[in-house]
Amino acid sequence: MQNTARPKGLKKIWREIKRPFRQTFGRHSTVPGRAKNVLEGMENIHERAANNPEHVESFCPICRKGSDKPFRPFGLTARSNALCPSCGSLERHRFFWLFFEETLKNWKKEGNGSLLHFAPEGFFKTRFEQVFGENYLSCDIVPGRAMKVIDITSICLGDETYDYVVCNHVLEHIPDDRQALSELYRVLKKGGVAFLAVPLKGEKTDEDLSITDPQERLKRFAQDDHVRFYGMDIKNRIEGVGFHVSVVNSNTVVPSECLRTVLGIMSDDILFVAEK
Ligand SMILES: [Zn+2]
Repeated sequence: MQNTARPKGLKKIWREIKRPFRQTFGRHSTVPGRAKNVLEGMENIHERAANNPEHVESFCPICRKGSDKPFRPFGLTARSNALCPSCGSLERHRFFWLFFEETLKNWKKEGNGSLLHFAPEGFFKTRFEQVFGENYLSCDIVPGRAMKVIDITSICLGDETYDYVVCNHVLEHIPDDRQALSELYRVLKKGGVAFLAVPLKGEKTDEDLSITDPQERLKRFAQDDHVRFYGMDIKNRIEGVGFHVSVVNSNTVVPSECLRTVLGIMSDDILFVAEK
């Protein structure tokens, strides 16, 4: 479907964004550790765009719509350049998608593989359905929010049934997150990959399961239904159930600050890529 609102020139810019990814990842690459400098070739794209009369201020890799305005502000403290007005995605979603879509090509299983998606974000749902077709299953513990009701700590699926798991901003809600992680490990096929994102602060996880008062949780864990505030040491927890974990930093995936601005991606955003 043609999007008539898309400024001219965007197609070309998008092509240039994609090319370095394709060239960098070898056929047999498992990527994350090798994501280094992936997008170095993108360095000057924003400058080129800026010098272009068809100036592009923002470009969303999820809905692939561009604009001559930045993304909208979003959040309690109103972060600028955050919300995509077309699909509703935020910075972390665009970072995830950029990484996921491109790495997928190199991890390609038979067909496109299969994906289990926890607490599904609407804008990903459509894209995932396009990629995985009937091998896509969304799930949530709350009925009506996804295709299947699933408790992440007791997943009602067989061992080694999925190639990929996407689980963004879920674990911080789960008291027994180690049990959840070991369930994710169990349902993944050998060689399968879980993409995990959580709110992060500092190095050490701050956790106190005895805190159940929503106001206390809000104060300490930044949201009234969070049970902890993860630090970078979550990596050990993920590895603890058997995964090999790569820490992917948005600055590594998109080294150009200018380009991160165009794509509306934060500096030092972190995605954990866990391979079985
Ligand atoms: Zn969008």
